[in-house]
Amino acid sequence: MNNKNSIGFIGLGVMGFPMASNLLEAEKELVVYDINEEQAAKLPFQERVTIAASKAELAEKVSIVLLMLPNSPHVQDAILSKDGLASNLSPGDLIVDMSSISSTVTKEISEELEKNKIEMIDAPVSGGQSGAVEGTLTFMVGGKKENFDKAFEFLQIMGEKIIHCGEVGSGQTVKIVNQLMSAVNLVSMSEGFTLGVKGGVDPEIMREVILNGSGRCWALEDRMPVILERNFEPGFTIDLHTKDISLALEVGKELQVPLYATTLVHELFKTMQVKGKGKNDNSAIINLYEELADIEVTKGSRVILQ
Ligand code: NAD
Repeated sequence: MNNKNSIGFIGLGVMGFPMASNLLEAEKELVVYDINEEQAAKLPFQERVTIAASKAELAEKVSIVLLMLPNSPHVQDAILSKDGLASNLSPGDLIVDMSSISSTVTKEISEELEKNKIEMIDAPVSGGQSGAVEGTLTFMVGGKKENFDKAFEFLQIMGEKIIHCGEVGSGQTVKIVNQLMSAVNLVSMSEGFTLGVKGGVDPEIMREVILNGSGRCWALEDRMPVILERNFEPGFTIDLHTKDISLALEVGKELQVPLYATTLVHELFKTMQVKGKGKNDNSAIINLYEELADIEVTKGSRVILQ
């Protein structure tokens, strides 16, 4: 224990907790840190867990650190703050940031780390909480190939597909594109199904047809079943998806790429936040349309046309 064979893990939330659990299940030893101290104590295989009192203490015990934090400021804090990883890891050590954050901030952090000869790759994930629990996540990785190879051993314990996307920041760019597309698909499905139910069609029949049509998408496959059950427990929250859509808009501004659909979808997601529904699952976006059309997209629901 506490040798440099242990892996550092910071951020034991909805995603990080099951991901760290899978590493422990695979007999890895972890040094963990979360500002919410209760999380670490709940991890399985406590005999292989060292709970660090600070980021600095964690950094002294490991040479590779995995991060799973909410957004750019949290990652900046973990790495660049006074007791952060940048000033407490050693030259040649590696940071693997699995959080979904800004690609620009990722590049800035990486440049700062280069001053201390600390390596970094970005490795955001897709696959949600269930993918984290089952160890079936997709990792999109940006950074030097030798760092990708070094992290592969750990990433493949937590995921099924580990794809090298290019230079530092490119994993975040791919993630941002994915999040933008999934949000737009979710909204287009919500709009379409509200129209269909108001038009007198059973939503389950509509789903069966469109799963075989060109409107088929992840939202229809994965989210429509929970909408039909009226289960809006997260899952992936409106708040986190809004954060990802904001990241897409930031990158669009930086690269001067107009993002018409994303801008509209961002306003719809913000409306949900204003209505106090930020902690709901992202599928709850359909509630906006349902309220306006005065219907519910639920099992057996269809408006009887006169
Ligand atoms: P979460 O809020 O559940 O977990 C974040 C954890 O980080 C919490 O335990 C929190 O206490 C801890 N934390 C926050 N700031 C910290 C700091 N400065 N130092 C140490 N610990 C700190 O978030 P999550 O759902 O696990 O998501 C993590 C990342 O993964 C996000 O970027 C999210 O967008 C991304 N993601 C989430 C999902 C999902 O389905 N939840 C899917 C794919 C990607």
